[in-house]
Amino acid sequence: MSWSGWGDPAKATPLPESVTTLLRELLGVQPRDESPVALSDIAPPEPRLDQDVLAALGKIAEVRADAEERVRHTGGKSTPDLLRIRRGDTSQTPDAVVLPATHEDVLGVLELATAHGFAVVPFGGGTSVVGGLAPEAPAFVALDLRRLDELLEVDEVSRTATLQVGLRGPRAEELLGERGYTIGHFPQSFEWASIGGFAAARSSGQSSAGYGRFDELVVGMTVATPSGTLTLGRAQKSAAGPDLRQLVLGSEGAFGVITSLTVRIRPLPEVRLYEGWRFPDFASGAAALRRLSQDGPMPTVLRLSDETETMVGLARTETIGEGDSGCLAIVGYEGQAGEVAVRRDRTHAVLSSLGGTALGAGPGESWEHGRFGAPYLRDSLLDVGAFVETLETTTFWSNIPVLYEAVKAALPGHLVMCHISHVYASSASLYFTIVSGRIGRDADWDEAKTAVNEAIIAAGGSISHHHGVGTEHRAAYAEEIGPLGVEVLRAVKRSLDPAGILNPGILVP
Ligand SMILES: Cc1cc2nc3c(=O)[nH]c(=O)nc-3n(C[C@H](O)[C@H](O)[C@H](O)COP(=O)(O)OP(=O)(O)OC[C@H]3O[C@@H](n4cnc5c(N)ncnc54)[C@H](O)[C@@H]3O)c2cc1C
Repeated sequence: MSWSGWGDPAKATPLPESVTTLLRELLGVQPRDESPVALSDIAPPEPRLDQDVLAALGKIAEVRADAEERVRHTGGKSTPDLLRIRRGDTSQTPDAVVLPATHEDVLGVLELATAHGFAVVPFGGGTSVVGGLAPEAPAFVALDLRRLDELLEVDEVSRTATLQVGLRGPRAEELLGERGYTIGHFPQSFEWASIGGFAAARSSGQSSAGYGRFDELVVGMTVATPSGTLTLGRAQKSAAGPDLRQLVLGSEGAFGVITSLTVRIRPLPEVRLYEGWRFPDFASGAAALRRLSQDGPMPTVLRLSDETETMVGLARTETIGEGDSGCLAIVGYEGQAGEVAVRRDRTHAVLSSLGGTALGAGPGESWEHGRFGAPYLRDSLLDVGAFVETLETTTFWSNIPVLYEAVKAALPGHLVMCHISHVYASSASLYFTIVSGRIGRDADWDEAKTAVNEAIIAAGGSISHHHGVGTEHRAAYAEEIGPLGVEVLRAVKRSLDPAGILNPGILVP
């Protein structure tokens, strides 16, 4: 993983001429060199942990305290995170990186941290975009879980698999693929994020319409907490009290460290087919997605870009035909051949009856080809002085138009694009991409982000559909759940982590 940007540095994407033109014409950005400082020039401060503590940690797990390793575990991958580290800012750099190999190692680290009062930040793939890896603590270690990388069990009868949490998306799929199965969870960060991070941040993948969100796939878990081990999940559903798995899902390392997860698996699909549709406008496209979510049939991938995102996407890639106006939808099917054919025919009939025009496989193939590529483009945009960031929210279908307008109104003067990519019978998510030539010059992102968070809450949206809370959404989350909700979270935190060493300042207001 690039220390100053996204993914594999060998896959860096140069800015296409069409995007440079858009930047100039639409946003007044005159490309200029804003490349990151050299990694070798970054010198984090001396670790704030005693040598004795580092030595004691070293007896439990592998410890790395060299500058490069610490820089590579600094913050996550939000745009502000990237801008900070590109400048060589080490204010969020851990004092050491600790790599446990077993659940018991994790318990040992938590015990030592409790005794010595330093903080522990579970680190999966490090792709958090909400400040989930930047605790408010005088001294902290990044607990890198990459050595917990085994597929522990496949239960073919129940169609579940138990995996250690440090497995990254591709390796987990590879191990399950060898047995003929898939989890079906493909967020845009799939190539770098970890199984544990998917659960800790309630991730949602691009095929969520067909396979479900990651939290819907989790049926069991083992969690190391400073107060001991939690083992949860004896069946998919149970009436034995409130479901404590739900307390761990989305807990972002503030309650404990998930060390293994049991998840639902499906047979590998025989067929994968993605197609494009054009709708006259965002409202008619959204109505069609709602209809499918409520009355079926349900495709596996279902996403709709608004007019601006469609227009900017066109400038970059392919045409959606006939005047190139309107909104592009990607509708995909995965499964067994016969079943996919029937589902596709029925979906075509519904979408055509609701004003959609079928565009065939071209746009679908183009989406499939580029589905993990956009974050590389962000690095190239930052290199030339443009600001790009994303944010997301969710609400009930009836409130979608209000929330959509409220977010756009909170971000005046910037290019704001939106898509719907996760849908349910009652609700949908809205995912916004903001491109700006002003942020960092005459406008400030922190201010804009605070305004948009407030607008989301005021418009009845949730502060996150799938990125989580971290530090960036903590204040808005407190408003969303109210003082009593905050007190419940704090009580859970006190009981599982009495010394408050796990991710202080993250999630819990
Ligand atoms: C370019 C890009 C695209 C993205 N696309 C998507 C997307 O399509 N869908 C989506 O849902 N999200 C997306 N994200 C957000 C992010 O990838 C997800 O939140 C992902 O689930 C984080 O996984 P991770 O392993 O990187 O976790 P990390 O970033 O390492 O950690 C996230 C949080 O969980 C905690 N944590 C990590 N592992 C554990 C564990 N085992 N036990 C307890 N706590 C833990 C961390 O301390 C932190 O607070 C994207 C991010 C980027 C940068």
